[in-house]
Amino acid sequence: MSTKSQPSEGLNAQESRLAGFKRRAYLLVCLAGFPGIGVGFFSTDELVLKLLFVMLAVCTASNIASNLNARVQIGQIERFGFWYSAIFILSRAAYSLFQARNEMAVMAVFHETYSSIALIGLMAYIMLNTRTALRAALTVFGTMLILNVIKLLSMPVTPTLPELRNLLIGQLSLAGAFLAFSYVLALTKDLLAVEQIRSSTDPLTGAANRWQMYNSLESEWLACQSQKRSFGVILLDIDHFKSINDLYGHHAGDIVLQELTRVFQKSLGNLGSVGRWGGEEFLILLPHATLGEARVQAEALKTNLAKHKFKVGQVTASFGVACLLPNESTNDLMRRADENLYSAKLSGRNRVEIKARVALEFDLEYKNPRATNHS
Ligand code: GH3
Ligand code: MG
Ligand code: MG
Repeated sequence: MSTKSQPSEGLNAQESRLAGFKRRAYLLVCLAGFPGIGVGFFSTDELVLKLLFVMLAVCTASNIASNLNARVQIGQIERFGFWYSAIFILSRAAYSLFQARNEMAVMAVFHETYSSIALIGLMAYIMLNTRTALRAALTVFGTMLILNVIKLLSMPVTPTLPELRNLLIGQLSLAGAFLAFSYVLALTKDLLAVEQIRSSTDPLTGAANRWQMYNSLESEWLACQSQKRSFGVILLDIDHFKSINDLYGHHAGDIVLQELTRVFQKSLGNLGSVGRWGGEEFLILLPHATLGEARVQAEALKTNLAKHKFKVGQVTASFGVACLLPNESTNDLMRRADENLYSAKLSGRNRVEIKARVALEFDLEYKNPRATNHS
């Protein structure tokens, strides 16, 4: 798919999940197809067809090997898979067409050919980006059209057989309509992907936006209710950010927001996601984290921020940590995180605030075996 927007970390994670899923699906397709290739090879006496099946078997085997090799990217696997399958289908159809000696046989090949074109078109829109897919589909369509017309003209009885002409026109229009429709579907899919990124991503930092964080909070809350577990949040606000803008300009302030996002994303790894809650406030969501673990993460963010060399000098932030309590709503949780952030600001900034009393209550109620000691 051709999406030009810069995806956020969340969407990158989504993309790599999709790539993993595709890898497994293509592997299944190749493995399931192998016996069929064997049957195809042994059930023909034609040398050309036998060679085509050998080519298909070799390409399928390398496709399986590429799928198992994590260094080969999913895009490469898809392009390779598409082109060798398309070449096989086309060559086989073209060969059968020119071998067909009577009208019935030609008719049968036409039927097969146009359903193959439709299949290749569909594969193109799934496996290639939309523009390449359109070009590939039109090339395949045009090639088969030319081959079919040559075959029709080369048959001595063709002009007197309206059935064959009708068949050509009928099948052609069906395949054409199918390709055009697939193209519209592919465009719609691209557009939706771009819109999904736009509606869930903060354009400046590439982090999830507030709307996306509301969704994540909600789905994490639902998961916690059914699994009887908790999750943590860290709400943070950059200290004296206004003075960075005032001293170095708004653009420099923007760069700080971008760099800080990268620092946090790197620091958290897979343990949490970063969202821009508003202005210079960020929300970190830590699924499965206990209060102790959330505090450790917040301290790590503070340390990594202190280590990072910003052009504007030292940048610090204040952190409010909270963990979902039983029977608590996401609003209550965010309110507590905000209170803790506020008290971090009041107690001098550049610090992590967590209410010890709540931490204690929380651990007693949940008796969470993973909970670490916290003061
Ligand atoms: P405190 O330590 O109390 O948080 O002080 P502060 O200066 O960080 O807080 P204040 O709320 O006074 O200022 C926040 C500033 O953040 C004001 C606003 O112009 C700036 N800001 C908000 N969004 C952006 C942005 O996208 N880019 C830039 N450069 N500045 C922004
Ligand atoms: Mg603020
Ligand atoms: Mg601030």
